[in-house]
Order: sequence, then structure tokens, then C-alpha cells
Amino acid sequence: MKKKILIIALTIVLVGAIVASAILIPKMEYAKDSNDTEELFRQNVALVGYENTIETAIPQTELYNMIKNHFNSPLADGKTEKKAIIIGYDGCRADVLTEMQDENSAISALLNDGASINLAYCGGVNFPVPNTQDTSTAPGWCSILTGVWADEHGITGNDITKSLEHKTLLTTLVEENVIDSSSFITKWKGHFDRNNATYLEEKDYCEKNNLNVSFNRCKNDEASHEYTLSEVGKKDCADFIFVIYEPTDSTGHNYGFTINNPRYKEAFKTADNYGFETINAIKQRETYNTEDWLIIITSDHGGIGTEHGDASIQERMTFIASNK
Ligand SMILES: [Zn+2]
Repeated sequence: MKKKILIIALTIVLVGAIVASAILIPKMEYAKDSNDTEELFRQNVALVGYENTIETAIPQTELYNMIKNHFNSPLADGKTEKKAIIIGYDGCRADVLTEMQDENSAISALLNDGASINLAYCGGVNFPVPNTQDTSTAPGWCSILTGVWADEHGITGNDITKSLEHKTLLTTLVEENVIDSSSFITKWKGHFDRNNATYLEEKDYCEKNNLNVSFNRCKNDEASHEYTLSEVGKKDCADFIFVIYEPTDSTGHNYGFTINNPRYKEAFKTADNYGFETINAIKQRETYNTEDWLIIITSDHGGIGTEHGDASIQERMTFIASNK
């Protein structure tokens, strides 16, 4: 009897060890990747086809001006309405774009239509100068949406609620009647769906003032994508849509942000495929030919190891693909 219990106990321990290693080994494999060097990063970035260089990277805050200028410029002949979308790939490094393929890639599709693609930087100042703000999610997206760095918008990290002093373009464009409506789509609770979320106060402000700004938190990336497709499919869809897809960020945190990690490359392809389907849905709009769309794909920060927030080139460099 004792022998039987001993065998059962040993079996449980053995099975447990196998299961644990099956989970942990792939997690550990690229968690610290000594082959993820600055030199390799520079080599891959050079292969993507960026129009600028790391030294001439654009501040991510420039996206604010791109969106604002688009809506404030006159309509071209034959066009009756301006629309814009930012498709965000959270935590997507600038080097992993070497993995884009012609089929099912939003970035390829934009480039084939004559889009521009540039390197950008997060963190307040360009590499190699040490960053002045965290290369993290809340500071990055907030700089894109407000056009200023953390020293002005105050979002120096996640879990800080932004004051109304620097409102996002989602709100100001609606408030100033430049556009009728805007929509923010994300799966991450930290943007506006938990205590100390970044845009809690702004969401509240929009509700109180009956501004047509919708804040939509979806349960996962697939749900965010479904929501985006249904929004874009509406006859009267939001004039400015901001959607964040997060496979690259979650895969990086779980398995390592590195070009050498097949899972990270796959995560990029997943995000880029969501983007591709979103752009196709835009092009299929009945009114597409009379609409003037600005389509932008970008990221908030990169990553290294299983983290981001610091000064490495892998964390600092982002990108901006724009159909204009
Ligand atoms: Zn992020």
C-alpha cells in the first residue's frame, strides 16, 4: 500500500515537472537574448526600407500634427468628408517589420499604394540620448494623442490619470466641431477602464459634455478587431478611429521582445493582419471614393528582454507608416 502511494506521488511530481518545463522553457528561451544586439537591430532596420535613419527618426508626437493637419486642410475635389484612423501595434519594434509579407500585411498594402514609412522615437528624445520619459504604453500613446511629451501631459508612467489640461485629439477635434465623432478601441484596462487609468477624467468629461467620443474596451485583441471592423463597416462610422492591437506587446512580455523570437515575429504578423483586414474594410466602404482617409500605422514603444521602459535602441525606435 505504501509502495502504491509512493508511486502515485512520484508520478504526480514527474508529470508536474514535465508540465512546468513545457510552460517555462519556451518562456525562458528568449527572455534574455544575448544575440539581440544593437548591431543586429541596425542591420534589420536598414532592411525594412525606412525613408529616414535612426539619427533622423521623427518624434512620435508628430502624429498629433499629422492628424490635426489632415482634418484642418481643405477637401480635395470630389471628396466630401475627411476620415482618419490610427492603427496601433502596441510594443512593436521597428526591426520586426522585416517580417512583413505582401499578402495579409497592412504595412505592405500601404507601401504598395505609395505610402511613406519612417522611423520614429518614443521616450522624449532620440536615441542615443538617455530617454526623458518611460518608453511605456501610457506615456507613448498619450504623447501621440496630445502632441506633447510627459513633462507637459504628466503621464510619466502607467496608472496615472491625466488632467484635462492636455486633452487628446479624440476629444478636442469633436469639441471644436472639426469632426462629428471619434472612437478609441483597446483591450487594455489601463487606458480608461480601471482606477488611475490614463483617460478616466477625459472619458468622464466627454460623457458630462455629451461629446460624441466613444471609449470602447474589448475583452481581447480579437474582440477589439471585431469591434473595429464593425465600426468601419457602419455607414456613418466615427470620423477619427484610434485602435490598438496588442499581440506584439503581450507576446514580448511573455516570451521576449526580440527579432530572434519566432513567437514575437508571429505576433507582429497577427497585428499586421488585423490592420490589413481593417484597411480592406475601409476600402470597401460604399462612400470610400468620396472620403479622404488618412491611414496611419504606428507603435508606442519597442522592447528588450521581456520588458520596456528604458533607454535601449530596441525600446526607443518605433515607426510611422502613413498613406499620405
Ligand atoms: Zn505599449
